[in-house]
Amino acid sequence: MNAVAVISQSALAHNLLIVKNQSLAKIVAMVKANGYGHHLDLLMPLIDNADILAVSELSEAQKLRQLTKRPILLLSGVYSKETLQQAIALECQIVVHHPSQISIINHSSKALSVWLKVDTGMHRLGLSADEYQHCLTDFTANSLIGIECVMSHFACADELENPINQMQLNAFEQLTDKQNNRSMANSAGILSNPQSHFDFVRPGIMLYGASPIANNDFGLQPVMQLSAPIISIKTIRAGESVGYGLTWTADKTSLIAIIGIGYGDGYPRHAKNGTPVLINGTLYPLVGRVSMDMIVVNITDSDTTKVAVGDTAILWGDDKLRVETVAEYSDTLSYELLTNVSHRVKFIRGA
Ligand SMILES: *Cc1c(COP(=O)(O)O)cnc(C)c1O
Repeated sequence: MNAVAVISQSALAHNLLIVKNQSLAKIVAMVKANGYGHHLDLLMPLIDNADILAVSELSEAQKLRQLTKRPILLLSGVYSKETLQQAIALECQIVVHHPSQISIINHSSKALSVWLKVDTGMHRLGLSADEYQHCLTDFTANSLIGIECVMSHFACADELENPINQMQLNAFEQLTDKQNNRSMANSAGILSNPQSHFDFVRPGIMLYGASPIANNDFGLQPVMQLSAPIISIKTIRAGESVGYGLTWTADKTSLIAIIGIGYGDGYPRHAKNGTPVLINGTLYPLVGRVSMDMIVVNITDSDTTKVAVGDTAILWGDDKLRVETVAEYSDTLSYELLTNVSHRVKFIRGA
């Protein structure tokens, strides 16, 4: 009920600067999934200052093209002549990750730039070493096709000690050389391993101010602040329980605040008892189950004069309460929480 997401323009600029301070590489800003749920039209400080913008699918490229003339990278690539035409009309650079895409691209009658994606160990998208060589030969012979960059993706970049990271880097370096631009690093790679930066870095989550690496925020500033009003406050007696399933019971006379946000707005239904909620500068614990439209917070230990109906509760996006913390309490990732904020929430451009 009346939840609001404020998208901080200065935090966007600040986080982009952190990428630039980490690396001299060009920046491919990942704005897939409507800018990780932040709404593309509220991301102009990012869109105007990145070298390239990357989206997953054509429908996202269409929306993005209405906002900017800057280069767009289509991560899924194309699967038919029709989608190729659409991608070319939108002036996308196109990823090629599967051999079936090679002949579609090769039959283009217009000039285009491609990114070749190779699999170095994640085993999701990407050409094998043989397919890559074959693709290189094919495209080099076709004067309409420019190979803009060769890319690969880390499987475990957020696990700094995992030896698979170095193995993937070695495989990538063996397969590629300085003849082509190269790109490997996501946010975790940017923040933890300069050897992975190459010519283009591909920051996603860090641009939105959430750290991909546990226990270090790298000075990133939260971009989305999600808040909702307190819609009721009441006293319950010892032994009385709260919410669906009555899963939390007061052990003494308690003061609870009902807040107008729930899983229908994208607040995680699996947030545990104790998940912090920030009200007037103080953190209070969530109690009982998250409903579609409401959550309940235990404010017993507050100075009662400090919390009133109509006050604003911050669910995440403050230095005192980062989205990473709420994700941890909900057994998920900041990525999922940010992308799941629903249509019902009002998005506002912030300072
Ligand atoms: C989403 C994505 C990224 C960005 O990852 P983050 O962890 O958000 O920085 C980078 N590369 C590819 C191919 C992606 O799909």
